[in-house]
Amino acid sequence: MKNLTLPDVNNIDLWKRIVSNKHLDPRRRLLAIEDRIQNRYQTYLANNDNLSTIKPSTDTAIIGNKNDLISCYGDNVNFVPVKKQLLSLSYKCPYCCINRPNTLDHYFDKSEYPEFSVFVPNLVPCCSACNGTKSTYVFDEDGERIFLHYYYDHIPEYQFVFIRFNIESDGIPVFSVYLDFMEATDITGVIERHFSKLSLLSKYEDCVKDRLPVFLSQIDSYKNMMPANAIKEILTVQYKSFLENNGANYWETCIYEGLLNSPNFLDQYLTQEKVCAVS
Ligand SMILES: [Zn+2]
Repeated sequence: MKNLTLPDVNNIDLWKRIVSNKHLDPRRRLLAIEDRIQNRYQTYLANNDNLSTIKPSTDTAIIGNKNDLISCYGDNVNFVPVKKQLLSLSYKCPYCCINRPNTLDHYFDKSEYPEFSVFVPNLVPCCSACNGTKSTYVFDEDGERIFLHYYYDHIPEYQFVFIRFNIESDGIPVFSVYLDFMEATDITGVIERHFSKLSLLSKYEDCVKDRLPVFLSQIDSYKNMMPANAIKEILTVQYKSFLENNGANYWETCIYEGLLNSPNFLDQYLTQEKVCAVS
């Protein structure tokens, strides 16, 4: 879970090219409000470090042309390559880090913010599951943002997703997944709401349940070939590779970190008889 780099796109130029492909009447209506769209783009960029202040426009010219503005998003020949570029920004959905991104989320939904329908800083590549759950939500009932904005929020690089393993008295490995921050800040509040709304902790539990048997089976095969320290070195190399490529809060990075740092887990697992079940 880490920031995306915003692609370098001339957004006004993109909007003009999309509008130029419209039929005569909508094109005329849209060109008449071009300066208002530019102003809204400026507002978005000027407040990218304080996204909660960006509220729906009260400009009747924008509200009155809502359908035309929304229709700019879609299969317009000038938008298709930009969509392709955005979908290639990450091979994992940034919202969940589980699935592949196959759709674009409008961070500020186009139903309430139609002027941002094709504004690239408002378009986040994500999976359809996250897009469906996020739906039109931006703020909770207290006016707090619910979801991370992957271009502008400063997501901490330190580890805040933890997986800790333990071995029960019957020898079966168990684990827990949780968030733990170095200090509570505005962004950690957004992260907590993001995780809660997308049920990420329980989704990561399912990921661990799916993957852990494979990891443990690898460790089992190493057990007969090398000493414990050598096994830990292999796991450390794999951990560092995931850390470098996917960040400290990617769930697979956290599995390796958890295997290595859960108190006594690895030593106990390496010395006990093989037990297959994971719970
Ligand atoms: Zn997702």
